[in-house]
Amino acid sequence: MEGSRPVRAPRGATLTARSWQTEAPLRMLMNNLDPDVAERPEDLVVYGGTGRAARDWASFDAMVATLTTLADDETMLVQSGRPVGVLRTHPWAPRVLLANANLVPQWATWPEFRRLEALGLTMYGQMTAGSWIYIGTQGILQGTYETFAAVAAQHFGGTLAGTLTVTGGCGGMGGAQPLAVTLNGGACLVVDVDPARLRRRVAGGYLGAVAESLGDAVADLEAARRDRRAVSVGLVGNAAAVLPELLRRGVEVDVVTDQTSAHDPLAYLPEGVALEEWHDYAARKPEEFTDRARESMARHVEAMVGFLDGGAAVFDYGNSIRAEAVAGGCERAFDVPGFVPAYIRPLFCAGKGPFRWAALSGDPADIAATDRAVLDLFPDDDHLARWIRAAGEHVAFQGLPARICWLGYGDRDAAGVRFNEMVADGRLAAPVVIGRDHLDAGSVASPYRETESMADGSDAIADWPLLNALVAASSGATWVSIHHGGGVGIGRSIHAGQVCVADGTDLAEQKLRRVLTNDPATGVLRHVDAGYDRAAEVAGATGLRVPMREG
Ligand code: NAD
Repeated sequence: MEGSRPVRAPRGATLTARSWQTEAPLRMLMNNLDPDVAERPEDLVVYGGTGRAARDWASFDAMVATLTTLADDETMLVQSGRPVGVLRTHPWAPRVLLANANLVPQWATWPEFRRLEALGLTMYGQMTAGSWIYIGTQGILQGTYETFAAVAAQHFGGTLAGTLTVTGGCGGMGGAQPLAVTLNGGACLVVDVDPARLRRRVAGGYLGAVAESLGDAVADLEAARRDRRAVSVGLVGNAAAVLPELLRRGVEVDVVTDQTSAHDPLAYLPEGVALEEWHDYAARKPEEFTDRARESMARHVEAMVGFLDGGAAVFDYGNSIRAEAVAGGCERAFDVPGFVPAYIRPLFCAGKGPFRWAALSGDPADIAATDRAVLDLFPDDDHLARWIRAAGEHVAFQGLPARICWLGYGDRDAAGVRFNEMVADGRLAAPVVIGRDHLDAGSVASPYRETESMADGSDAIADWPLLNALVAASSGATWVSIHHGGGVGIGRSIHAGQVCVADGTDLAEQKLRRVLTNDPATGVLRHVDAGYDRAAEVAGATGLRVPMREG
């Protein structure tokens, strides 16, 4: 792509912008495109198929130049990865407002999106690519760890030891799967068509090894399953061929899921297409490619249904593969449950979700200090403590050092305020940014994922993420975004993100208290409204006001 070059965020405590409130989005935009972080930085692609941080390199340069000079009473507007205006606002207002990939509903299809993208009018922002708070594969690791822990608790007595998990996709997010399985004690086979993706996860410590052949992989993993060893093996292959073959061979598989980038049919390699032909073929004949990808996804999901029939725990991992498989002719795709209703919704009812932060200093010691602060703040949460210790030991940082941990309503603000104090008194070398994935309790409408099978049938109601973004902007977040199509693809989701900056000032503390309370509060409210008792209990216990429940 024209203008392509390696990008790396500045480190240390010296400002290149006018304040930390603008330095932070500047560094995080650059960090998303760091070659250690992004999957295809030369094309501005961060993760998730074609999730971009900027529309083109000219837009990237203009955003960097604008953020470098932006004042603390100004706001930059970003329309699908391109800066389109700077407005006079006020210090409590966000410094950046972003809207990515949004289309009027009747036009919200992949072909129309691609037509507009080819005209240079839009870009796909995924969730945290276009909103500058992607922190590498770690970002999803804890959520994946939590999900496999829930699978272990529901089906295998609390551990995956002695089980084999089979999955596809070892990319930016999917690459967390093998480590999440081994952290839960299990054995894992991950299939990816691209050997470079598998090697990258081995280098980062997420994957144990890459097998020479399917036979070798099966032999190693069957032995690991028998001996209850936590082992992960990658296999170069097409999941649409490998899963049916495993089923045919009668390999004993206990858990099956998938994180190929099936949400975008052009980002799923059909069987019979060589890796080298992929992008050229997809660009030349998108419709033919889409049909072939969907046929392959149908075979892939038929095999998943076969494992389900055989008694395995099988779930869709939020990549829309069931809907694509139905389009490819697999009638039983939705026999496979989605992971949110199966494992995650009780956490959402308590406003729990993927809280994350990054050290703008670039110093890993800052993350170690915040890890200690989290352990100190929540001494009775053993599950959280196990995760923080495991992450400290196993997670290799990509780009600016960062951490994620799922925290709920009432806990996120406590962590944010503590981090701000640590910046103020010099325990941290520079400010930290605090954000989250868009995959959160109150910030998404996505009927095939976060809002699948809501108790009141409100799966497709998209007012909630819009309210969530307005709440974040009204409460003092530093940047706020509204996206369409993340996770599950164009036409299938609307979602919002927010990021705050703990710069050690009193003003930042006031903002953090409000944003980090109100943001997860919308998650609790969304689930109270849908009729979940657990959410009503949380609201009642914390004094969260729900007008329709006031007498
Ligand atoms: P990615 O584009 O970085 O990686 C996808 C991987 O799939 C690539 O390595 C690619 O080579 C591989 N692949 C494509 N077709 C294949 C095939 N037929 N067989 C085997 N491998 C194949 O994407 P990502 O960021 O890892 O995200 C993966 C999917 O998971 C996306 O659909 C994304 O929206 C979804 N997702 C889910 C969650 C969640 O919490 N469940 C979170 C984020 C993303």
